[in-house]
Amino acid sequence: MATIAFIGVGNMGGGMAVNLVKAGHRVLACDLLPANLERVVSEGCEQAESAAAAVGEADVVVTMLPAGKHVREVYENEVFLSAQLGTLMLDCSTIDVTTARGVVEAATEKGFVMVDAPVSGGVAAASAGTLTFMVGGTEEAFKAAEPYLSHMGKAVIHAGDAGAGQAAKICNNMLLAISMIGTCEAFNLAEKLGLDPQRFFEISSKASGQCWSMTSYCPVPGPVPTAPSNRNYEGGFATALMLKDLRLAMEAAQKVGAPTPLGAESESLYSVFNGLGGAGKDFSAIIKMLSGEWKG
Ligand code: NAD
Repeated sequence: MATIAFIGVGNMGGGMAVNLVKAGHRVLACDLLPANLERVVSEGCEQAESAAAAVGEADVVVTMLPAGKHVREVYENEVFLSAQLGTLMLDCSTIDVTTARGVVEAATEKGFVMVDAPVSGGVAAASAGTLTFMVGGTEEAFKAAEPYLSHMGKAVIHAGDAGAGQAAKICNNMLLAISMIGTCEAFNLAEKLGLDPQRFFEISSKASGQCWSMTSYCPVPGPVPTAPSNRNYEGGFATALMLKDLRLAMEAAQKVGAPTPLGAESESLYSVFNGLGGAGKDFSAIIKMLSGEWKG
């Protein structure tokens, strides 16, 4: 059993922290919001006196924070100042590649073992322990991190050196956004051409247009009963989070000079949809904006 300081027990981190408790670890939870702390304490975590106190007695530190600036601040101002040499650090937040690399490199220089380990999968997967982790760091750091990540996910994949986990995550989600918009356009055009959506799905899901956006998250209700389109686009992967990931992807593309014209167009379309009131809807709801039916 390890003592784990878990910083950021929000929508995602809450379920992940509880899964570490279920696996037999002692989890000291830290968060700025009392309600989030109460929720995980009721499920077996201990409320830490302070982040510094929790980190000081931890074998492992896990962070699940909103963005790069929170991660940098928490590590520089709290974690690095209190952790014991050799402490294992896992940052599971989705952040920009540059910050992720910088924080992992700073941790390594100070004698800690750290990986960036962003996740694929939403709140339900975080609670169920079925996340996919994309891990950046040395082989040694990956081996140390894997057993803990396995308690919170169904797949743990070593993507490469520091920052590679974040790189894999934003490239995957940029592709997902592009494929979702493509799927939406195809369904809208099919309908205008008089095709029945169910019949078009049966054909295209077995033809070369087949993709995850169509077969798992079909943007029109009916063909895939579990897709958010059947629940008025509630639940699923929120447009605001997709937009966050697309912005990270465009920022990274600009830095390395990679041409991403469809990624840029997707970012712009999701930005408009976000501003029109789509932020909380599943990202497949963009079909309504593209068809001109979105009411806000
Ligand atoms: P959230 O806002 O629910 O949780 C973040 C938590 O961090 C909050 O409880 C907040 O109070 C806490 N926090 C912020 N600064 C802190 C500090 N200095 N010290 C202690 N606690 C602090 O967000 P979330 O939905 O859980 O997302 C967390 C991360 O996971 C983000 O990077 C997000 O992009 C990523 N992610 C989210 C999803 C999803 O479906 N929600 C899916 C994949 C990845």
